[in-house]
Amino acid sequence: MPTTYQLYIGGAWRDAADGATFPAINPVDQQPWAHLPQAGSADVDAAVAAAREAFDGGWKHTNGLTRATLMQRLAELLEADAERMAQLETTDNGKVIRETRVQMRFAARNYRYFAGWADKLHGESIPLDRPELVDFTTREPRGVAALITSWNSPMAILANKLAPALAAGCTVVIKPSEMASVTTLAFAELCEKAGFPAGVVNVVTGDGSVGAALTGHPGIDLISFTGGTATGKAISRVAAEHLTPVTLELGGKSANIVFADADLEQAVTGAVAGIFAAAGQTCIAGSRLLVQREIYDRVVAQVCERARAIRVGDPRDEATEMGPVATQAQHQRVLAFIQRAREQGATLAVGGGVPQGEAYDRGYFVEPTVFTEVAPDAELAQEEVFGPVLAIIPFDNEEEAIAIANGTAYGLVAGLWTQNLARAHRVARRLEVGGVWVNTYRTNAAQAPFGGVKASGIGRERGLHALDEYLEIKNLMIDLSSEARDPFAIRT
Ligand code: NDP
Repeated sequence: MPTTYQLYIGGAWRDAADGATFPAINPVDQQPWAHLPQAGSADVDAAVAAAREAFDGGWKHTNGLTRATLMQRLAELLEADAERMAQLETTDNGKVIRETRVQMRFAARNYRYFAGWADKLHGESIPLDRPELVDFTTREPRGVAALITSWNSPMAILANKLAPALAAGCTVVIKPSEMASVTTLAFAELCEKAGFPAGVVNVVTGDGSVGAALTGHPGIDLISFTGGTATGKAISRVAAEHLTPVTLELGGKSANIVFADADLEQAVTGAVAGIFAAAGQTCIAGSRLLVQREIYDRVVAQVCERARAIRVGDPRDEATEMGPVATQAQHQRVLAFIQRAREQGATLAVGGGVPQGEAYDRGYFVEPTVFTEVAPDAELAQEEVFGPVLAIIPFDNEEEAIAIANGTAYGLVAGLWTQNLARAHRVARRLEVGGVWVNTYRTNAAQAPFGGVKASGIGRERGLHALDEYLEIKNLMIDLSSEARDPFAIRT
């Protein structure tokens, strides 16, 4: 029997005001397995009002230790429940269980990391030109935050936003993707259990109209969004009406660059991790593999061999390395990209279709797919596929590698594989991205900032800098003198 979930607003569980629901679909068999409320504008209004009341009514005045203690308790609850949460997320979006388990623990790690900052949000004392003026800053929570997440990693992405928001003293209204909302509602139960006051954390579920109602709401003080670049632009336009600050974590077309002096075994593993983990449905996918000409044939052969050997199947099975893509729309979109790449003349080396067999009949499966000799300006090398499709591109020298890597609209991350330390520094500096991995790929840390430049986004998540997105700086200047002054000239 599918489980029925409710909205979490003002510390209470309730159906959508008009009783509307929608089904959660399991991408392995296309069966509905949960029912979720489709919120309307009345529910969004109620959630924003609850968050405002909780913010003004006390949360913004709580001391850091209180917030930290609640966050540590939340992390403990998530760790204790990690297996159940991983199973729910895998059922919801088809991501392999071996990754969702790690993601639950990493989400908990992020709550612990930001709990550590909650009681250390001090300002600065600033010496001025006039010694009789005392000047200092305080950092204050911005207010009610709208947190909008995508379907590919709901809990991990939420932790990137909710952990710094809570540490800063903001209250939140969360809107997960309609394609994968179950874990966010299950997680709200953990927030309740941890003891957060009513209204600090609210969750509204439903389609994109819920996100639009939330981001356009005059009661929202900041927006943190993870999703597609087109939606990010739409949100920015709406936010401009209210001058609401926006953090955007958007798409990518990241280059994984292998130089001839690299440890090839490591580099090939990095290439596989970059594109076939999570069935390529990750913003940090290393979807362009740039390989230096001297080693091109060897690397292509090894990557193709590894791609052919990937175990595709039920993501709940621990042996499975790649599950289905998450939705029917995604399935069609990925296959259409493959079709166009073939028509446009890229060489299909591995995959390119739907795996055959009874186990795959009802799910949204795509074969691990590798195209070689892809032109740097081809659609496959420019557009985000968000699926298990790798474009391999040869290059001759450092200069050309940098030009190809920078030659897309995106700028999220890049991977560099080289044993030459000077080259690693030289190339990393010139890459137009928010993060560079050298001799590793898809490695995350709570302390390290993450985010993109160009069409990949605005702002940073994780690490100390993430807190700035949720805090305002207030300056206080105190005149210790009783000097007479000219009221018609500014004092400096
Ligand atoms: P979307 O942009 O379609 O959706 C993201 C979220 O925004 C969902 O919750 C969605 O709701 C909601 N939404 C849709 N329309 C609006 C609107 N007009 N106003 C406000 N919110 C809205 O992205 P996907 O969920 O399809 O995720 C895939 C995309 O996300 C990829 O392009 C990927 O690159 C990017 N991504 C980026 C990451 C990063 O950190 N940089 C991480 C993960 C993904 P609903 O789904 O219910 O329509």
